[in-house]
Amino acid sequence: MNDMLKKNPSKVAPLVEVKEKRAPSYQLVRGMKDVLPADQKYWDFVIGKAESIARSYGFSKIETPILEETGLFVRGIGKQTDIVEKEMFSFVDQGGENLTLRPEFTAGVVRAYIEHGMLNQPQPVKMYSHGPLFRHERPQAGRYRQLHQFNFEAIGDGHPVLDAEAIIVGNVIFKELGLKVNVQINSVGDQNCRPKYKEILTNYYRSKKKNLCEDCQMRLAKNPLRLLDCKNPQCQPFKAEAPQFVDWLCDDCKNHFMRVLEYLDEAEVLYNLNPQIVRGLDYYTRTSFEFFLDGEDLASQAALGGGGRYDTLVEQLGGRAATPAVGWAMGVERVINKLKEKNLEVPDLSKPEVFLAQLGDQAKRKSLSLFETLRREGFRVYQSFSKDNLKAQLEIANKLGAKLALVLGQKEMIDGTILIRDMDAGVQEVVDFNKVVVELKKRLRG
Ligand code: AMP
Repeated sequence: MNDMLKKNPSKVAPLVEVKEKRAPSYQLVRGMKDVLPADQKYWDFVIGKAESIARSYGFSKIETPILEETGLFVRGIGKQTDIVEKEMFSFVDQGGENLTLRPEFTAGVVRAYIEHGMLNQPQPVKMYSHGPLFRHERPQAGRYRQLHQFNFEAIGDGHPVLDAEAIIVGNVIFKELGLKVNVQINSVGDQNCRPKYKEILTNYYRSKKKNLCEDCQMRLAKNPLRLLDCKNPQCQPFKAEAPQFVDWLCDDCKNHFMRVLEYLDEAEVLYNLNPQIVRGLDYYTRTSFEFFLDGEDLASQAALGGGGRYDTLVEQLGGRAATPAVGWAMGVERVINKLKEKNLEVPDLSKPEVFLAQLGDQAKRKSLSLFETLRREGFRVYQSFSKDNLKAQLEIANKLGAKLALVLGQKEMIDGTILIRDMDAGVQEVVDFNKVVVELKKRLRG
């Protein structure tokens, strides 16, 4: 140590902490979710099943934009609904337009039906869609701010068999996904009988106002049907005793409802009449329904899907008067959560059937064309051309869950052969290189 420092230790230059300069890190926006590669098999399975069943029931695909005019949802869904009051992601864009990230599919699909003159096609026009929706809800288990639905609409026909068909399609989809569901069904009447029922419901609730949750006190004034939709424990006893809409339906609505139930009986669909299924949106008329996993607590807010008839929406959005319609949507995340909870096996189409391993430069070169041949033959083949070490390649094959590995090494190149290794059994066989496609078909396609 030099003299100066000995005399005056405080003069020692402080250690400067060298902070590593890193770019700021970002996280998911609240309520959003990444769907990672490992989860894709669930999405492929659910969307694939729903799509093939939708097609076989005569629904065609429609894609509408995620962004629509805010007014479309305000008018369609209704001002006094949770979605419009509190949950829409709305903004004014650079051009001064009021836009909203769609919180549901129906309004956009109905806009497209009107805008493209689909009323000139044979009715009903049956369409399905799937994709993301946005609702600024309080995030919790099974509730996201970006959610995905698979949605069905049948527009332009009021026949009760279409309500039943919507429910039957849902039932078939859940069954084929391996989920046993129960349909909760109700009728919310139409413009003829609803005013009377609203009045009766309001009279019933008025005397209980003080004991209702804050939201329900508001609903009582603005949208009394929604009182039956309340999930707050405080309001449950009043809901249980409330007058039921089915007792106040006009003859047409009652007749419609009875026929829907008859069709469901015919199709052997399990359903429960549930006077509390009124749905959150203003546009529903007559039939409304929700799907729950069989045995699930209905108050758990765990509906897997739901929908109903909406006979006045087309007119309300500027279309032709008296264009009835019915639709429903399945909550994709909720369904996937249930498949996982129940440990249901889903096919994994991202898993390779064959992993192509190679050793030596000559083999590497030959494996490029072999890979392309196998791909064209329809096998799900993976490779790692950039690797030289055979053990490392087989480890990758193992990690990816490949059923078979092909090994092309120096010896095989000389002999005109290739090794086929069964990854599970750990046994391998030498086959003629020119017969590799036939041999793979034998092992994989049976
Ligand atoms: P709705 O459009 O509100 O009738 O919802 C139809 C289905 O979408 C529900 O039964 C749920 O399965 C699902 N769903 C609705 N809201 C959410 C959300 N915030 N997060 C996840 N799934 C949802």
